[in-house]
Amino acid sequence: MPKRRKPDPLLLRVCAELGAGRITEAYISDPKWHVDGLCEFGPRGRVTISPHYQTVDSLVHELIHRLQPEWSESYVRGRTTRLVRALTEQQLQTIYDEYQKRKRTRKSPVVVEEN
Ligand SMILES: [Zn+2]
Repeated sequence: MPKRRKPDPLLLRVCAELGAGRITEAYISDPKWHVDGLCEFGPRGRVTISPHYQTVDSLVHELIHRLQPEWSESYVRGRTTRLVRALTEQQLQTIYDEYQKRKRTRKSPVVVEEN
């Protein structure tokens, strides 16, 4: 995020809306598309967020790097996209659940050193 910029007034409204709650985390099952989020319109509308696809996409990407460190970034991206798009809902949920079981959560950020 750029520093010392006048904050976008929409950001303040988004943060206030976050504070209002009515947010659910759930897997969203759609027969046609992969869906990351849904919004019921209207002032009392509920927002539903599904972190599954994005998380599994990042996880698979990094695991491929670990398996094949010699592969280029763009090649890993391509292989990840193809692999994750081909997952069934059940496979996606299974990988997500396994990740939830195996992950270790750190409170402090991991700082990436400049090269
Ligand atoms: Zn990468």
